[in-house]
Amino acid sequence: MSSNPYDRLQVRTIVNAAGTATRLSGPPMTDEVADAVREAARHTVDMTELQARASKLIADATGAEAGLVTSGAAAGLMLGTAACLAGLDAARMNRLPDTTDMRREFVVARSQRNMYDHAVRAAGATLVEVGIPDRVSGAGVRDAEPWEYRAAIGERTAGILYVANAQARPALEAVVAVARAANVPVLVDAAAQLPPVENLRRFTALGADLVVFSGGKAIGGPQASGILCGRRALIASAALQCLDLDIPFEHWEPPRDFIDKAAIEGFPRHGIGRACKVGKEQIVGLLVALERFVANGGARIEAWAAIAHHLAQALASLPHTRVAIEEAPGTAIPLVILHVDEAGAGCGASDLARKLRQGEPNIHCGLGRLGDGALVFAPTALREGDVDAIAAALFKIFGMQSKRGRARGVGS
Ligand SMILES: *Cc1c(COP(=O)(O)O)cnc(C)c1O
Repeated sequence: MSSNPYDRLQVRTIVNAAGTATRLSGPPMTDEVADAVREAARHTVDMTELQARASKLIADATGAEAGLVTSGAAAGLMLGTAACLAGLDAARMNRLPDTTDMRREFVVARSQRNMYDHAVRAAGATLVEVGIPDRVSGAGVRDAEPWEYRAAIGERTAGILYVANAQARPALEAVVAVARAANVPVLVDAAAQLPPVENLRRFTALGADLVVFSGGKAIGGPQASGILCGRRALIASAALQCLDLDIPFEHWEPPRDFIDKAAIEGFPRHGIGRACKVGKEQIVGLLVALERFVANGGARIEAWAAIAHHLAQALASLPHTRVAIEEAPGTAIPLVILHVDEAGAGCGASDLARKLRQGEPNIHCGLGRLGDGALVFAPTALREGDVDAIAAALFKIFGMQSKRGRARGVGS
């Protein structure tokens, strides 16, 4: 019997050239991370102690005071919001997402709205949008401005949500300055802002109070893992709202530098974060992946660049197409862009993506540029041999054999 569980489940495996997409199960884990997850699963631990240790390691990697492993960046957004809403007040923790009579508004630039902010609203916050993004509509040159944040902050403000990426305006520094003056925390969604490795520290260094990263994207941790890092008291609040605390208060002995028991009067039994609980396997897998990412981040980018280069070369002689390598905006991830000349090819980019998906093996590419007549191939979730499979499939669709395939006698 095959050792591949997907064979036993009769579920097809795919070639994932769409990158770290959750709908396609993210990238494959390295053996090192997979082995750590497997070993972690064979023991039992006190989860508060494990998260306290994770906090130290995340603090080292990010420069933040403390950290928490979450079940994803979206879970980090919900827990970070819950921390800003409830602080260390257990009665408030128990009430969330009911925020009646609490400060509950998060100010966000209209141009930064996206459907992951559902997680912020799920904690009980309401979003207050600022700025008219003329530069995005093409009707002008401006976006939200710092004074607009200042004007929107009032008695009901609980925080500022900032979605980091290369195009985000205004600059985080300017938003932090406004927030500091008003004594309001800034929560940064930096889920996909890695690599470069330096970005692990960047947003904290710029003054963000809380920052979230995906563990299942470039870091290479378990698909359902993420990082929330930031101020010690906010991380303690987030931890209180996701750990299982179904024990008598006097029997609870959290490590003091993680959660200061003297600072709280009581704790929730199960906070709002119980619905996105994280297991020891995710925590250990994330920590091992994070350590490797910090140590080898540069080498991984080089490996991805080599894969992208190899694919671009393999596709160079494909007719009616033009191939280019571009970096994903704001990160150092190289992407292969295949522009399709629909008139010459007799099929557009959209048809081509469908044919790749329906072939054997099933090849999924990035669909974000179909409107420009292009397919996007990301190297981040490819396995050995996938580049040749992609090239062979495209040449087959175009009715020819790839040079590489011919040399190896594939299809003969
Ligand atoms: C991917 C992403 C998320 C969600 O991350 P998960 O780890 O899958 O929960 C949130 N925000 C942004 C901007 C993202 O790109």
